[in-house]
Amino acid sequence: MNVITLREGKERSLLRQHPWVFQGSIARGNAEAGDTVRVQAHDGRFLAWAAYSPASMIRARAWSFDEAERIDADFFARRIGRALALRARLPLSSDAVRLIHGEADGLPGLIVDRYGDTLSAQFLSAGTERWKAVIADQLLAATGLARLYERSDSGVRALEGLPAARGWLRGQGPTEIAIREHGWQLTLDVDEGHKTGYYLDQRDNRRRFAEWVRHFGCRRVLNCYSYTGGFSVAALAGGAQEVLSVDSSAPALARAQAHVALNGFEAARHQALDADVNETLRRFIREGRTFDAIVLDPPKFAPSAAHAERAARAYKDINRLAFKLLAPGGLLLTFSCSGGIGAELFHKIVAGAGIDAGVDGMILSRLEAAPDHPMTICFPEGEYLKGLAILKQSA
Ligand code: SAH
Repeated sequence: MNVITLREGKERSLLRQHPWVFQGSIARGNAEAGDTVRVQAHDGRFLAWAAYSPASMIRARAWSFDEAERIDADFFARRIGRALALRARLPLSSDAVRLIHGEADGLPGLIVDRYGDTLSAQFLSAGTERWKAVIADQLLAATGLARLYERSDSGVRALEGLPAARGWLRGQGPTEIAIREHGWQLTLDVDEGHKTGYYLDQRDNRRRFAEWVRHFGCRRVLNCYSYTGGFSVAALAGGAQEVLSVDSSAPALARAQAHVALNGFEAARHQALDADVNETLRRFIREGRTFDAIVLDPPKFAPSAAHAERAARAYKDINRLAFKLLAPGGLLLTFSCSGGIGAELFHKIVAGAGIDAGVDGMILSRLEAAPDHPMTICFPEGEYLKGLAILKQSA
């Protein structure tokens, strides 16, 4: 058995059940990639069973804080069973669900989404890579499904020293899948889509957007960073007459257009624009255009806290432009999915953008990821998606 001994004082975060062991915390010990190691304090006290990752700054990720627990196939069956039991209790109006959300489900580095009868998974750590076959079999056994697509082609694999991997891991079939979200029909492709194929974390915010668009009577809606048009379908469902989806991905926009037809909305009510959002917002200001509702759901501008400053400027810029383009009384939904930007900082950035644009607004609601992307008490890093719904002042 491999033992990792921490430097004195470095046991604190593990004692609080935070699952990461950073390289600099380790006094001695090592192992092969993915090996289960016993992590102990400087005085030999047991702290956790963890997966070792020799290439990563996060040198080990805890599987369990229980010394009596063995890390074997049954362990994965228990953790997967627990995650599925949680989802079964949650109110989820969709047949597309995040089943495993990494650390928050006690399975660091593992992301599993269910899209109808297909699973799409990312194995992002040395530990999940080591146990991949066991995890795949347990996932199928627990869900009763037969198809699992692997999307381990995220850049974070490189930080773990792992090559990209993509393709059917279990079963096979078409990679295009139809799902239903709040009664809307949507499609995705587990092979060509972003991440595992679709952004499930915005599910509840899309429903609320539809309700607000209807309640406030928003006619002209601008959906920035639209991807496959989830918020655009929501706007149309809410009664918007002119919806514009802007994204820099042509395949995503083609799918957004298809979603409009699939849900029975007149094609004339929706337009797709393949362009850079920042440039588009500037052009619209020059043209004097205005919108009744705007969604800003950009990609991660700050992958880590180190990028926070530059990212803050980028967030502020697009929010300032959006405030200017909003008609009086208009609705702004603005998001950040950067782990390095906390909710409080994000609020400050948006406030600064409002001041620069010369507008004030009322925060209608704070927004977060849907509950199948759970936040746990012990792992604050899990809180990545934060947003604000803001009503611009009427005059
Ligand atoms: N709101 C979407 C998810 C957005 S993900 C949903 O509900 O599903 C972020 C999107 O931003 C991606 O589709 C990506 O293609 C797009 N994107 C990234 N940089 C961009 C840029 N500079 N201009 C326009 N779109 C961009």
